[in-house]
Amino acid sequence: MTGGPNRRHPRYLVVGSSYAGTRAAIQLARENPDADVTIVGGDLDGHYDRTEVSKGALAAEPVVPRRFVRAEDLAAAGVRAALGHPAVRIDPHSHVVTDAAGQHYPYDRALIATGSVPANPWSAVAGARVLHSAADAAGLQSLLQPGARVVIVGAGLIGLEVAAAARARDCEVTAVDEADGVLAGHLPRPVGQLVRTVHATNEVRFILNTATEVNASASGGRTSVSLAGGELIQADVTVIAVGMRPNVDWLRGTALEIDRCLVCDMSLTTSNEDVLVAGDAAQIRGATSTLMLEHVTAATETAQTAATNMTRHRADRTNTHITGFFWSDFYGHRLQVLGAPTPADDFCWLARNRVGFCSRAGVCTAVVLVDAADKIREARSQLGQPIAHLHHTFQGAS
Ligand SMILES: Cc1cc2nc3c(=O)[nH]c(=O)nc-3n(C[C@H](O)[C@H](O)[C@H](O)COP(=O)(O)OP(=O)(O)OC[C@H]3O[C@@H](n4cnc5c(N)ncnc54)[C@H](O)[C@@H]3O)c2cc1C
Repeated sequence: MTGGPNRRHPRYLVVGSSYAGTRAAIQLARENPDADVTIVGGDLDGHYDRTEVSKGALAAEPVVPRRFVRAEDLAAAGVRAALGHPAVRIDPHSHVVTDAAGQHYPYDRALIATGSVPANPWSAVAGARVLHSAADAAGLQSLLQPGARVVIVGAGLIGLEVAAAARARDCEVTAVDEADGVLAGHLPRPVGQLVRTVHATNEVRFILNTATEVNASASGGRTSVSLAGGELIQADVTVIAVGMRPNVDWLRGTALEIDRCLVCDMSLTTSNEDVLVAGDAAQIRGATSTLMLEHVTAATETAQTAATNMTRHRADRTNTHITGFFWSDFYGHRLQVLGAPTPADDFCWLARNRVGFCSRAGVCTAVVLVDAADKIREARSQLGQPIAHLHHTFQGAS
């Protein structure tokens, strides 16, 4: 039997007001009209498409990313929004969240959707920039002037999108990474090689396999990047793009289990059954593997499952199903990845290097599409299939 908290007007509290949080709050309010649904968000205005911050919005002037929800949508759905003060404490025993202004929010069930922020080991160095918000993009864009020397530390998805935006503005771009390939933390090597070739053709200089240190430069606002080999690169603009750091520090010291992110099971239930988690903040422990997916589609999928499960007793909760999907844009090309690839997967290209397959033990784990959006439906249906079938399906594709 399913069932919510034993109360006529159950109190559902969502902490974090971006993709995962707003999705879950709106769903909870629509499906449970008798419930009191409150969202506590640190951002006054976090409802825009963060994926555009390193893509179209960084290229466009002015920087205006698309909104995926408006304040009116929350109100119309019946969600009470308390924005502007981040949550600083949760007491799972007494079921209360407290925000930075000292406001207390009692709950029956809470959802943690506080996402992540860019990691920045050089946050103390003035001029070492990260890219997370529309304001970050506007600030960075103003510096991407023709001829500016831009150094990007981290040749991952976001770093390379910044590289493409900087080249479009005629900057001199160098990307450095301690890994010996690009996108090395995400995808098998051949995909990184292809992406690197496209960037190199567009005059991005790569320095790979090299540890890096970022220092403040004597000349105001500038930085210098020193490499393990002794080379010193002077930069007008330095962008740190070395990955994300989940916003879960505020939960430490409570009974909730935290590893890198907030640990949960496949139903998104944490070590306290009245606290669930969705989006980038979640570390999902399955029977055979652990998932931490920093993608919009995973945020949406986990938010939907978590919102449903918040209204159920633990025994009746369902597991989340995450397909996994992300994309990247550069120089008019689009890379799309379906599934859950790892750099260690076997890999082969088909269809003239427009479709690539990742596999483990002969089973397809992910499909990589390069300017092949028309193949997305076929690609999705092949996930989990024996790799031999895929060869048959895609070999003839043009
Ligand atoms: C530049 C950039 C480009 C990206 N491009 C892509 C892409 O192309 N494709 C893709 O799939 N994904 C992309 N991502 C990742 C994607 O944006 C995230 O996976 C997604 O935003 C996760 O959603 P979320 O709701 O879990 O967390 P977030 O979007 O991180 O939102 C968390 C929210 O919680 C708030 N918050 C944090 N701490 C607290 C607190 N203590 N109390 C209250 N509120 C709090 C924050 O202010 C924020 O509004 C990109 C990310 C960045 C930064």
